[in-house]
Amino acid sequence: MVTDTYRHKGMRQKLVQGLKKKGILDESILEAMMILPRHYFLDKAFEDWAYQDKAFPIDCDQTISQPYTVAYQTMLLELKKGEKVLEIGTGSGYQAAILHLLGARVFSIERHQKLYEQTTENLKKHGFDHIRTYHGDGYEGLEKMAPFDKILLTAAATEIPQKLVEQLKSGGKMVLPLGDLDIQKMMRITKGEDGTVQKEVFDDFVFVPFVRGVE
Ligand code: SAH
Repeated sequence: MVTDTYRHKGMRQKLVQGLKKKGILDESILEAMMILPRHYFLDKAFEDWAYQDKAFPIDCDQTISQPYTVAYQTMLLELKKGEKVLEIGTGSGYQAAILHLLGARVFSIERHQKLYEQTTENLKKHGFDHIRTYHGDGYEGLEKMAPFDKILLTAAATEIPQKLVEQLKSGGKMVLPLGDLDIQKMMRITKGEDGTVQKEVFDDFVFVPFVRGVE
């Protein structure tokens, strides 16, 4: 059984202080990151590194996002309690757990069956039973649960996925890394009453690719 110790809490505090210095000023996000043990979402072999502000490999050649990236994307979502949020790319489940701690109703899709199964079990084990996970292709979104207040894409897209825009409520927002395989711009899209979208462009990031189909 993986436990959370004072040593972990100390490392987490340093991580959160570092995020503040890097410009993450939203207190509720910093608090959620202080509460959530990131080492629950990594292989045991990486436990000692869990509180470095870095991405790490997880199963199926994927990564757990860097804490700064998780905080940055979450900040751009401008979450309100009770909002319905679709995350594309469950991966380790860490980002989904942060959204849950911030009061969102979280739905998360993963294309790798193995990651989906492992992460679903791990989330349950740590008491995150309310996060709804799905095995599927994020390009299709989650029609049966749409529309969503917010959509968060945690893999790099080369164009804005239209089906996801359709599954946003009017006034809803989608945050996604958009660009080439080697570098992307963080974008925020706000859907207007008439279905048109307004785009805002933020900093550069590097994500694993948004791949079609399931494995
Ligand atoms: N949010 C994750 C980050 C995982 S990396 C975390 O906190 O750990 C991005 C994830 O997106 C990978 O697990 C990858 O398998 C998944 N992914 C890529 N393309 C996808 C698609 N079309 N549908 C669903 N998931 C996808």
